[in-house]
Amino acid sequence: MIPVYYNPMQSVRENDSFSPSAGKPEQVVAAWRELALPLIFPSFAPATRDQIKWAHESSYVDAVLDGRVNNGFGNRSPAIAQALPWVCGSMLAAALCAYERKMMTFSPTSGAHHAGYGFGGGFCTFNSLMIAGLGVHKAGAARVGIVDCDMHHGNGTENIIRELGVYFVQHHSFAHSGAHPQQSDDEFISEFTQALMLFRGCDLVIYNAGADPHVDDPLGGILTTEQMRMRDFLFFLHMKEFRIPVVTALAGGYQRDSQGSIDPVLKLHNNTILECWRVISEY
Ligand SMILES: [Zn+2]
Repeated sequence: MIPVYYNPMQSVRENDSFSPSAGKPEQVVAAWRELALPLIFPSFAPATRDQIKWAHESSYVDAVLDGRVNNGFGNRSPAIAQALPWVCGSMLAAALCAYERKMMTFSPTSGAHHAGYGFGGGFCTFNSLMIAGLGVHKAGAARVGIVDCDMHHGNGTENIIRELGVYFVQHHSFAHSGAHPQQSDDEFISEFTQALMLFRGCDLVIYNAGADPHVDDPLGGILTTEQMRMRDFLFFLHMKEFRIPVVTALAGGYQRDSQGSIDPVLKLHNNTILECWRVISEY
C-alpha cells in the first residue's frame, strides 16, 4: 500500500507559466490511478501560516499569501496563494506519515527547492521540502535527508539550512554531481550509489524525484528514460536496505508532446512510483 497525499485544492489549472507545476498534481494523480497500484489517499489539512514560517521569514510568508509580493512563478495569482498551504500541507502530512509509520509515501507536489528563507523563484514559492523536514524533526527525527535529483541545484534548500543553522538536515543536490552526458550505465550506477551511502542513518529521507534531468527535457538533458528508471530503482532499493522511510515529491519536468500535453513528464513520474512499488513488493 502506498499513501498518496493529494487534495484537489493543491492543484491550479489556470497559471500562465512555462512551468506546468501548478496544475501537475491533478494530472499526475490521474495518471497514477491508471497504474493498478494499491494507492490510498488519506485526508490532510492545509499547512498553517505558522508551519510555513518554520522554514521562511514571517514577513515573506504573509506578503505572498496576502498577494503583496510575487510568488515563485512571478505573479500574484490568488488561486496560487490559496493552493500553496495545501501544497505544503500535502508534503508535511506525507512526511509525517512516512516517518511515524515507517513507510514509503508520496506527495504529488513540486516547486520547492529554489525557495529560500525570504525569497522565491524558478517556479518555487515555499520550500515544502524544508517545511516537511523541520516538521518531522519536531516529531522526533534526529537526522533528515534530502536527496534532490532535480536537474537544477537546490539553492533555496541550502539557503534555509544555512539561515536557520539546521544542520541535522543532510542535503545533497545532484545537479552538480549527477550523471554526465555519455556516461556509461556502470559509471552512473556507481556514482549515484556512492552518494546514497551518505544518507545511511537518517530517520527519514525526502526524495525530490525531478523529471527534468531527462535527455529530452528543454531545461535538462542528461539521463535516458532507462537511466532515470534505474535512478528511482536504486534510490528506493538502498533506502529499503537502510530501513529508512521515504517521502517522494515530484520536482521539475518541462517536456511537452506535439499536442502540448505533459504526457512525457507524466510517464517519468509514473516510472518513479512503479519502481517504488516494485522495491516494496519484490525486494
Ligand atoms: Zn529543475
